[in-house]
Order: sequence, then structure tokens, then C-alpha cells
Amino acid sequence: MTEQRLSDFMADAAADITAACTSCGTCVEVCPVVPHAGVADIAPATLVGGVLDVLHDGGALTGGSAAWAHQCDGCGRCIPACPEGVNPRTMLMLANSVSAETHTETPQLFRRMSRAIRLMAAMQLAPNDLDRLLRPPAAREVPVVFYVGCNAVRTPHLLFHAMYVLDAIDVDYEVLGGPAACCGIVHTKWQGEAAAGGRVTDGTLRRFGDFEPETVLSWCPSCNLHIGETLEGYRDTGFAFEHITDYMVEHEARLRARYTAEVPLRVLLHAHDGMSDLGRNVARLLGNVPGLEIAGIAWESGYTCGGSGADRSPGLKAERRQATLDWAARPEIDALVSLYHGCHIQLAATAEDGGKPVMNFTDILVRALGGEPREDALQGWRMAGDWRALVDETAPMLQRNGMDLDPDWLAEVLPDVFAAREFAGGLEAIDRRR
Ligand code: SF4
Ligand code: SF4
Repeated sequence: MTEQRLSDFMADAAADITAACTSCGTCVEVCPVVPHAGVADIAPATLVGGVLDVLHDGGALTGGSAAWAHQCDGCGRCIPACPEGVNPRTMLMLANSVSAETHTETPQLFRRMSRAIRLMAAMQLAPNDLDRLLRPPAAREVPVVFYVGCNAVRTPHLLFHAMYVLDAIDVDYEVLGGPAACCGIVHTKWQGEAAAGGRVTDGTLRRFGDFEPETVLSWCPSCNLHIGETLEGYRDTGFAFEHITDYMVEHEARLRARYTAEVPLRVLLHAHDGMSDLGRNVARLLGNVPGLEIAGIAWESGYTCGGSGADRSPGLKAERRQATLDWAARPEIDALVSLYHGCHIQLAATAEDGGKPVMNFTDILVRALGGEPREDALQGWRMAGDWRALVDETAPMLQRNGMDLDPDWLAEVLPDVFAAREFAGGLEAIDRRR
């Protein structure tokens, strides 16, 4: 039997939404980005109508509907609000994908992102560790695949911490990730290339299937959103797809039994409205760590930090971020704790500017298990802020990883690579590798 194409799956999903949506406007009324997108004076039904027109007829989003959809940070507040059972987050995701077929502000995003990721990983990791994250292992039957996605490879220490936890609770798993195992969201949503996105997603799902796993554990919230929500029901895979923090909570008794060290800190946990269940997972995991006290959870909008999440709506992001930093600055807080890789990179930068120390939840789990967390190389390099010195420092590691790069070119691109400028349509210089 021929498998359905992703473009057909998306067209069917769009047709279901346009049939069910009554343009009541409730999703707009509860949407926190509306006041920040300059569309608060437009009738909600008009904003929704523009989105439905694109889903029905194709073409680019325009006017207020474009402003609303482009600033959607995936916070998910609209989902329980819809009286018709439509998922408005998916509605806007699909509309953005259709619109990007006509006009994308992030051309070549995947190519630039892939190069930036490989470069950052190769600067930080010895060849064996780099292979572990980027080279697909030989297929074998294994109960668990740890799917690290693409972008998280920029912060490899967090992924190795997660593996440390899986090892500590005796999980038999293989690791799959890097740009060669992308979930497909970049092609489908940002580049408007559903055919290519479908091939990428199918290729990655097939790789999962090669291991005949019971469960694929994702790390990246974007992979979770794309495969787990937007494309739910696209393929019958035969394995469960869940976030690694769900799995850790399911095995918390075993994890707790392996804790050997106290982590005497009072922390503020950073989490996102758009995947609040994952934030609660981490709060629960940290709540079991001996000596650790959670002073509170600083909820920010969106489903993650970064260009596909909270950064879509800069005004709202700035408000929420300031509230987080003000809370973290209180004297009773020892450290701010990040959840995902994108959040960690951004929050770590606030520590560099004189804010409270930032650690990832995986740092804390490794410490509680008696281990020594890996160094956050990116943070140290950014704090030094000397790109030319960084080029010299990392040249031997890059060469060990087969990258013999022009130092002038590298010094030119590194600031944009570290800022993930490709998500704003930039980083053209990485196309001119020397
Ligand atoms: S997901 Fe959040 S930002 Fe996007 S439409 Fe829904 S409420 Fe608005
Ligand atoms: S998606 Fe739901 S809440 Fe939004 S306009 Fe349509 S029916 Fe109303």
C-alpha cells in the first residue's frame, strides 16, 4: 500500500480545521502575543479568517493574520479554549507552512543550521563523542532510542548528561541525532517545502524503526511538537514517542535509589507554558534530589526559548524574561535552572552579564548521582568574547574532527553561529566556507 504523502496529510488536517472552525475568535482573545503583534484592534474573526483563507486556498499570509501567525510562539493557551476542539496552535503551524511555500524569511535555513551545528559540535567534542551524537549506530534491536534532534548538538554536554542518567538507571539504548536525523520541521514549517520535509521526517522515522524500539525518547521540544503533535497520526510507527523527562518520571523510583550526593541549592526553575507538562516533569525530578529546594517555577511564554518559540514574539518575551531575571535575582535564590538546550544557551548568557549562576536540570541530576557534570564550553567561550582567540584554541579539535578551516572566515562567522542568526534569516557567510 502506498504511504500517504506529508503534503496530503497536511492538506487533510487543514481541511478538517477549516471545516470545524467557526471563526468565533476565542483563540485570538486568549492569545498572549496579540497585544505584542500590533493586531489587538483587529476583530478576532478577521484574524482567524485570514488564516483559514490560506489553509483553504493557499498563498501567503497577509496583514494582521500574518502578524499574528508569525508571532505565534507555540504557548498553547488557545488549545483548551477552542469550543470546537480545534488545535489553533496546529492551525497556525499549518498556515505558516503553507505561507512559507510562497514566501520564506529563512531561506536555506536547514543548510545554514546544519553547518553551524556541525561546526559548534566539532569545536567542543573529541571524535569519539562527536561520532556518538552525529554518526548513526549500526542497527540492532534495542528497547529505547534516545533521539537528540539537531539543534541540541550545539550544547552536547546536556545530551551527555542525559545519557549519564539513562546509564545510571540501566537503560539499553542507542543514540540518534544531528542534522542527518532531523525531524523535518525546518523544511516543512520554515522553508515551506512539505515534499522535502516529508522525506526528512520519513527517513528519520525509518531510522527509528530500524532499531525496533519500544520507545523513542526525544530531547528537543521542537521535535516533540512536530512529530508528537503537528504530525500525530501521520505514520503508524509501532513505537511510543515521548519526551525524555516523561521517561525519567516513569522511572523516578529507580533514579531516586541511585542518588548518592546532596545538591544543597535553592533554585528557580525556568519552564514554558507551551509544554507545561515537561516543566512539571523536571520540577518533580528535581523535587526528589537530596538537599535541593525549588523556590518556584518561572513560567515563560512559548514552548521553548529561541527562534521557533518565545523569540517569535519579542515584546512578550522581554516582559516574561525580565520577570524571570527579577525573581532569580532575589537573595534566597542560588541558581536559575534551565530545561532545554535553547533555553540554556540564552539563560547562561544572563549569568555572563552578572545574573545568578545558570545550570541545566541535567547538571543537577548528574551531581545527585555522584557524577561530575561536563564543562559548559560555550559559556566559557562566550564570556571570554575573543573570537580570534577561540579560533586558535579550537583549531586542534576541529582538525581532529576533519575540519581544516580558514581562521579569518571562522572568526567572521563565529559570532553569528553562536547567536544562531540563521533563524532570523542571516548567517549567509557560512555558505561561503573557506
Ligand atoms: S499557541 Fe499561543 S501564541 Fe500561538 S495562537 Fe495559541 S495562544 Fe497564541
Ligand atoms: S480555532 Fe477554535 S477558538 Fe479559534 S476561531 Fe476557530 S473555533 Fe474559535
